[in-house]
Amino acid sequence: MKRRLTLHFPRELVHQPITYRLAVDFDVAARIIRAQMAPNQRGTMVLELSGDIDELAAAQHWLQSLGLEIAAAGGEIRIDPERCVDCGLCSGVCPSGALRCKAPDWRLTFDLSRCVVCEQCIPACPLDAISLVL
Ligand code: SF4
Ligand code: SF4
Repeated sequence: MKRRLTLHFPRELVHQPITYRLAVDFDVAARIIRAQMAPNQRGTMVLELSGDIDELAAAQHWLQSLGLEIAAAGGEIRIDPERCVDCGLCSGVCPSGALRCKAPDWRLTFDLSRCVVCEQCIPACPLDAISLVL
C-alpha cells in the first residue's frame, strides 16, 4: 500500500539519509514528490511511501522517533457518483475499510476519516470513478 506524508525537518536533521534508511531498514520505497531542503535550514519533504501496512507503520514510528514532524500529505480520494455502478471492486482492495458495500442495498459507501490515501482503489475501478484530488 501507499501513504503520502509531509515531513518537517529541524535544521539538525536535514542531512539524514531518510530514503536510504527506509529502504534498507524497513523495506519501504520512498518517492520524493516535493522537497525544500537547504543546509542548516529547516526543511520540508513530501514523500510517497510504498510497502506493506506493518512496514509502513514501523517506518512512520521510526521517522517520528528521529524528531521529525509528520503529517498526512494533502490529497483526498473522491468517488464520482455519476460513474460508479456499486460493483464493489474497490472495496475489495481497500485495506482500511474506508470503502464498503454493505447490506441491505449494497451501495458503495466511502468513509473519508478511515482513508489512508494508499491509492489502491484507483486502478481497481474499471470505470475510472475514483481519483486523487490534490
Ligand atoms: S479508499 Fe482507496 S485510497 Fe483510501 S484507504 Fe481505501 S484503497 Fe486506500
Ligand atoms: S470499483 Fe468503481 S464502479 Fe466499482 S464500486 Fe468502486 S468506485 Fe464504484
